[in-house]
Amino acid sequence: MTSVKRINHIAIVVEDIDDALHFWRDALGLKVSHIEEVPDQDSVVAFLPVGNMEIELVKSTSEESGVARYLKKRGPGIHHICFEVDDIEASLESLKASGVRLINNEPIIGTSGKRVAFVHPESAHGVLVELYELPPK
Ligand code: ZN
Repeated sequence: MTSVKRINHIAIVVEDIDDALHFWRDALGLKVSHIEEVPDQDSVVAFLPVGNMEIELVKSTSEESGVARYLKKRGPGIHHICFEVDDIEASLESLKASGVRLINNEPIIGTSGKRVAFVHPESAHGVLVELYELPPK
């Protein structure tokens, strides 16, 4: 079985980071820890820690990215939930063995050099699920 440690973050697709911050930061009162460009995924991400997890506001920087296509099709909203695991390879093997459809059969490199992989929403009741393995300290 996959050993999930905690929810690492919930990602929300937005049309505009500053506009989204009027709610998430100014009205709701969350703090922005940092804003990072993720060139691999053609996006800019604002990180807002909440307890031991984060809300991530994701904005596409190109018309062609997965995030841009998502926004066009479904509008802004929750994009994915990310679970932190100890061993991402073992988790992917275990999910494959359970017949789960994966988007990434092997880990890819996400924000801050973390190893990540996505599970297809078809296998997760319509939710895009991301797995995260934190880099060794
Ligand atoms: Zn994520």
